Amino acid sequence: MGTYSSIAINAIKARYNSDDIILEALFTMRYGTVMQCPKCNEEVKYRRIAERKSYGCSNYECRNQIYPMKGTIFEGTKTSLVTWIDIMIDLSKTYTSTLEIAGRYLLTYKTAWNICRKIRLAKGSLLDEILSGVVEIDETFLGGKKKLEVDKGKGEHRGKGIGDKDIVFGMLQRKKRLRLFSIEHKNSETMEPLIDKHIRTGTTIHRDGNASYGDLESKGYKPKLVKGKSSKTFLRGTHNNNIEAAWSRLKKKIEGTYVWVSSKHLQGYLDEYCFYYKTKKSMESLRDIIDKLMIANIKIPS
Ligand SMILES: [Zn+2]
Repeated sequence: MGTYSSIAINAIKARYNSDDIILEALFTMRYGTVMQCPKCNEEVKYRRIAERKSYGCSNYECRNQIYPMKGTIFEGTKTSLVTWIDIMIDLSKTYTSTLEIAGRYLLTYKTAWNICRKIRLAKGSLLDEILSGVVEIDETFLGGKKKLEVDKGKGEHRGKGIGDKDIVFGMLQRKKRLRLFSIEHKNSETMEPLIDKHIRTGTTIHRDGNASYGDLESKGYKPKLVKGKSSKTFLRGTHNNNIEAAWSRLKKKIEGTYVWVSSKHLQGYLDEYCFYYKTKKSMESLRDIIDKLMIANIKIPS
């Protein structure tokens, strides 16, 4: 969770205090002050077009226009960009529900929900680093009221209905970053590709006896089996204590704030949690975080 000073927050609010200034900053961050025009290929300046959210090529014969909000979280919005920045700050400070955001900024629930969702997507898009060093892997179950149906022969989760728990697979690089994935099944078809994609070969992986991780050694990883919570294993450093602590914090957050999180949208909340984890560990400034979110390229899932 971010612990940003009111000085840092006020500095951002003072810097981004009008929609025109935010649009200008967005344009400059994406394209620079002088650029090669994609249409006429001249080295030109682009100037703001009055009454529009676009910038035009200063070459009179070209007059190409660029809309800096296109492809970002702001694309198509009718909400003030100042409000967007305020919401980004709110969501960086603490977990805030969509209902609270809607009330605070006098937005419809649907608008507030869309803004929060796009900010989460932007956070997810900034989580692409590969994990290395010492990584702890584990799974947990989230939410739900009904007990899991477990096929004892295979140890697999037998599909998920309303009220069932969600399965989350996690990979945590100590003191650095965390990746969490909402998965349908606790099997090797699901988990092996996630390990391959997100953990660098040669990494030491602390794992329990779950067979679904596959043969990590043959893939070039250095697996260490976590045996339990005895003080001996803790001293040797072979333990999954960090990811277990992350599970308990995540459960408190999600089950406390997002009681209504549906399985469909769980991944967005998991990404948001991983983003908090990363920015907290990296001590990144709030200003840098907001700027990165502003220019993040997002793809809206259908
Ligand atoms: Zn041009």
